[in-house]
Amino acid sequence: MFDHLLPMAVAWPVGVFVFLLGLCVGSFLNVCIHRLPAGKSLLWPPSHCTTCLGPVAWYDNVPVVSFFVLRGHCRTCGAPFSARYMVVELATGLVFLGYWLAYFPLGLREGADHVGVYVVHMVLAGALVVSGVIDLERKEIYPSVTNLALGVGVIGSLVWPQVQTLGAFDHQLPDWTGYARADAALLALVGALVGAGLIFVTRVLGTAVFRKEAMGTGDIYLMAAIGGTLGWEASAMVFLIAPFFGLAYGIWHLLRQDDHEVPYGPFLGLAAGVVMLTQDYIFNYFRPGIEGMWRVMFRQG
Ligand SMILES: [Zn+2]
Repeated sequence: MFDHLLPMAVAWPVGVFVFLLGLCVGSFLNVCIHRLPAGKSLLWPPSHCTTCLGPVAWYDNVPVVSFFVLRGHCRTCGAPFSARYMVVELATGLVFLGYWLAYFPLGLREGADHVGVYVVHMVLAGALVVSGVIDLERKEIYPSVTNLALGVGVIGSLVWPQVQTLGAFDHQLPDWTGYARADAALLALVGALVGAGLIFVTRVLGTAVFRKEAMGTGDIYLMAAIGGTLGWEASAMVFLIAPFFGLAYGIWHLLRQDDHEVPYGPFLGLAAGVVMLTQDYIFNYFRPGIEGMWRVMFRQG
């Protein structure tokens, strides 16, 4: 059953390349995390120490490795660098490698062994890392980041309809226009609307019931990107799973300190990461129940 998958002789070098690519992307995500909240350009100036403003040479800017070579300090002034840089780089590298292994050599998700699907999913993952870390630190989500991922999700669906075929239940696209690409792009927009709508309704209801702001507007943008890329079905699953991550963090956080404002972006991101890999398993698990309910409701068979 695995004959269509990559032979191991090819898989190893590609896996190493994908991991290194992830480390470099993680290095760029650090730039986004650091500079977006400060309103600075992502491209200029080149990497520098935030304490002495001295430039960081290329050999001191190698992802992960340089952090250990310099023992987490600036070579010029000795100021400590946050370990967050290294953690984000390593996490992004592992995300790129992990999903590549799952989609290609291991074939854990049917239909995911497609380069376009992988590219679109990793763009979303990158946006989720940036949004999650900034939200965790500043309780803010930048629509410029999530809308970029949404744009890639919609255009990616137009170029590779497989992106939406994969996300749909039973891997079937609707036939709305007669053109698979157009149907896929429309389905991406439906996914974005459903994802954003779920958070929007929760926000309106929550704010009315608890009389204080429930969920930020940033979470609406974040779920639009998730729904637009992974499909409306996935965004519903993310919506249902995310509170469990949030609850675990909330309890731990309450025990530690008295800051009651819990950022929700990281948990939407974690849930999206889980659903990206396990959507089919989750649906198949609930399928008998959903179909049973359907039959009872419409008195069929
Ligand atoms: Zn320095």
